[in-house]
Amino acid sequence: MKFPASREKDEMKEIERQCDVRRGSGAGSSRREILQWLGMAGASSLLPHGDLLARAGMPAALTGRIDIHSHTVPPFYTKVMEKEILATGHPLPTWTPALHIETMDKNGIATSMLSPMTRVVQDSFSDKSERARKLARQNNDYSQQLVRDYPGRFGHFAALPLPDTDGSLREIEYAFDTLKADGIGLWTSYADKWPGDPVFAPVFEELNRRKAAIFFHSAPPICCRALQPGVIDSVVEYDFDIARAVVSFLKNDSFRRYPNIRFIFPHSGGTLPVLANRVTESLPEKRSEKETAAMMDEVKQLFFDVAHATYPAPLSALTKVVPVSQILFGSDYPIVPYPVSAGPLDHFGFSESDLQAINRGNAERLFPRLKA
Ligand SMILES: [Zn+2]
Repeated sequence: MKFPASREKDEMKEIERQCDVRRGSGAGSSRREILQWLGMAGASSLLPHGDLLARAGMPAALTGRIDIHSHTVPPFYTKVMEKEILATGHPLPTWTPALHIETMDKNGIATSMLSPMTRVVQDSFSDKSERARKLARQNNDYSQQLVRDYPGRFGHFAALPLPDTDGSLREIEYAFDTLKADGIGLWTSYADKWPGDPVFAPVFEELNRRKAAIFFHSAPPICCRALQPGVIDSVVEYDFDIARAVVSFLKNDSFRRYPNIRFIFPHSGGTLPVLANRVTESLPEKRSEKETAAMMDEVKQLFFDVAHATYPAPLSALTKVVPVSQILFGSDYPIVPYPVSAGPLDHFGFSESDLQAINRGNAERLFPRLKA
């Protein structure tokens, strides 16, 4: 069974609309382009969400949240990364697909978008390694199998072996054309480079051509790791690096050059909302009110998940910078338990319709196949 033709048409229109907003033009994408972006998803992924769950004999938690920010901890990863994980002094949380689903059900999560674990792929600039390519492929095959095994419950942001350009281009093709991934998962930095750096341009040009959604996960750049004894990088550096990544895109005019990409950043934007005015006033070559306003408009079109950042301060700052339409629920499970983000979000003071948009409506716009 496929969507009724009218519904499929509505989805096309919505993706066209999102791309047009990013382009800042009224120009529409061709139907052919959109079908290509969707990767001509197989009949199973075009089934209405409710049918998928009913067929799978699962409770139809269809009105539950869509969690944009969650991770897998696959067995191959813990094996390969054992030494690195031990060196951090912070063992990884217990995780299995069944436990993930059980915890989602207990916490009203309908669907979780799966991202690679931090540093699942090696980040050395000197090494276009087979190891990185193999890890990315293993991660992507593993995650997409979960999408198939638990219909409707998982989505998938595929890993790339960046900074390996050739390997990444090959993995983009595999992720979209073979696996039908929902998007791509990248880091906010790679060693001493941030993603707007021209060295990454071929990869972003291809992602723009494919109208990809990209989820950026925080990562500590090489300059700023283990700066203080006993303070792990995620405490401070993760949230600073989100601002650095966005600045790298603004500086290189990337948001305008890649208008078809839907950019998603984590943790309510980290330090970005507090710095946004300073950045948009100081960064344009021609400092003028017009340039500042234009740059701020680019920021307003980005998407942000709220994982581990729904406290009054970060969420207030984010809502002062972007409209509610750009805010997505995220948890960072299994690293962070669901109530840490969900509790303060529920009590922040959003209207019911805004909360519904954050919990799933905005994610449905980004990923129409998840529509309940
Ligand atoms: Zn995370």
